[in-house]
Amino acid sequence: MDDLASRLAAVDARIADAARAAGRDPASLTRIVVTKFHPAALVAQLHRLGVRDVGENRQQELTGKTAELATLTDLRWHFIGQAQTKKARAIRAAASVVHSLDRDRLADALERAGEDTDAVLDVLLQVNLTQDPDRGGVAPAQLERLAEHTAGCRTLRVRGIMAVAPLDEEPAAAFARLAGFAQRLRTVVPDADWISAGMTADFGEAIAAGATHLRIGSAITGPRPVHD
Ligand SMILES: *Cc1c(COP(=O)(O)O)cnc(C)c1O
Repeated sequence: MDDLASRLAAVDARIADAARAAGRDPASLTRIVVTKFHPAALVAQLHRLGVRDVGENRQQELTGKTAELATLTDLRWHFIGQAQTKKARAIRAAASVVHSLDRDRLADALERAGEDTDAVLDVLLQVNLTQDPDRGGVAPAQLERLAEHTAGCRTLRVRGIMAVAPLDEEPAAAFARLAGFAQRLRTVVPDADWISAGMTADFGEAIAAGATHLRIGSAITGPRPVHD
């Protein structure tokens, strides 16, 4: 617990430094702690330390942890992983925000899953910064089209854009391109001003490039348990 608290404090200090260096208000940033592969007990510890935004990348794990921690009603669960259309209903039931909307069919499935409620789900459009179509994310050339389609979904609210920096490129260069895509998104949805970018290895560069939502895992949680 002490280690967790000190790692969290150290990361938050680095976030604040990077924000000030970029002339930005640290309070304008949302730090999401990515808890994938860690047990629900770790999320509960983080909650005791004041964390309210956590990220998961697998639907089953998200569903399980949200059920286990249902009493922590002020936790916001961010879904950040590649999503199968058939899992849309379960994702929608558990997540406050979906960062990884990358195709029309997923928008339609999330929309159908919300049809019976008045609730609106916050979504971000994930853009693929690599040339590899197997990485999640819409191809940049399709961004405006996907934005128009998703903006037409009554129960979804497009809040911004999300990306993962490629492994084989300087993160600063990749995040500069992402900032350009964020501007393009705002030509379709003017108030979609969230930029979800920055992980353990590159959150400083992401903050410098305008990220508003940081997804930080291992720097805070420690190494992830081994998984399949
Ligand atoms: C795991 C993951 C993160 C966090 O990664 P760390 O390097 O542990 O900070 C962020 N974003 C996505 C999409 C992830 O899957």
